[in-house]
Amino acid sequence: MKITFLAIIITLPCLGETSHWYKGNTHAHTTLCGHADSTPSVVAQWYHDHGYHFAILSEHNKFIDPKTVKLKGEIREDFLLLPGEEVTGRKTVHSTAMNVNRLVPWHFDHEHRSKIIQKHVDETIKAGGATILNHPNFGWAVQAKDMLPVKKLYLFELYNGHPSVRNFGDHRHPSTEQLWDDLLTQGMTIYGVSSDDAHHFGQWNPGKSNPGRGWVMVRTKELTSDTITEAMTRGDFYASSGVMLKKVVRGPKRIEIEVDEEATDKELASPILIGHKVKKGKPGYLVEFIGPKGKVIESSVETKASCPVNLPYLRCKVTRRIKQKDGDLIEYYAWVQPVFTDDRTKDSE
Ligand SMILES: [Zn+2]
Ligand SMILES: [Zn+2]
Repeated sequence: MKITFLAIIITLPCLGETSHWYKGNTHAHTTLCGHADSTPSVVAQWYHDHGYHFAILSEHNKFIDPKTVKLKGEIREDFLLLPGEEVTGRKTVHSTAMNVNRLVPWHFDHEHRSKIIQKHVDETIKAGGATILNHPNFGWAVQAKDMLPVKKLYLFELYNGHPSVRNFGDHRHPSTEQLWDDLLTQGMTIYGVSSDDAHHFGQWNPGKSNPGRGWVMVRTKELTSDTITEAMTRGDFYASSGVMLKKVVRGPKRIEIEVDEEATDKELASPILIGHKVKKGKPGYLVEFIGPKGKVIESSVETKASCPVNLPYLRCKVTRRIKQKDGDLIEYYAWVQPVFTDDRTKDSE
């Protein structure tokens, strides 16, 4: 007994010292769904070979046990397949059940979507996992009123790389970022995820749902299914559609960030990224600190910036705007999760 006890005190401090950033995609499909082009092994291999640290094979209403997925060649130790499923339910409510230990049922129906979403969340918790509410603007299915009453929902897809999910809204519907600001303003504890929703690993063009377009950078001490899931549900990550950060401090009183220009340039050199076409703006970086109602509190064109958190909450968004040879302006983003100064996070403790 004594030996075990000593071993625990010796190893604990070593485990706890350093946090790492882990790159991951929480949403990808395989031939098992019938409308994607690659097997689970090929999909997992793509993420492994492209420097990701974790991926979820989130199949529609199917549970792919990571143990059954075989990778080829030398397998990096810092690569993990997280178990998951895309719970593909009624009224176009889809969610990623991340870190579940079995299939999560999906048949529930109700006249109110909030009740369907609540069922996704509750059933996912019963299976040991956490819910990411997926692509709310797909089919204009999910609005703020559907998400706001849901308990224990902490994650949603702010950005999804599939070409038909309408991340940026239209003249009648809010963008997912406006939806996020609305939810945050109304007191919800909700963090924004960026994912691929990849289906096509064989043919490459902007009309296909290819991988490598949206990811999360999660900060944890270890790379395990539990630590990644826990870090995400407490907002210890940022979402990216191209921009990489080297420093993120989400202190109780201040958010501080620094762009990793080299890593961003490397990501943006990839032909896979699609970016978001805009009509105006100067090329370069723009850091915005955003408070309630989506109001920009402070902004900077430097790659290092910080802002005090004085309001009920503050979040940060970094934009890299590029002028292409044909004159088009394209934007890529990193979204840092909000810091809350009111007592809303008490519910999640
Ligand atoms: Zn979906
Ligand atoms: Zn999907």
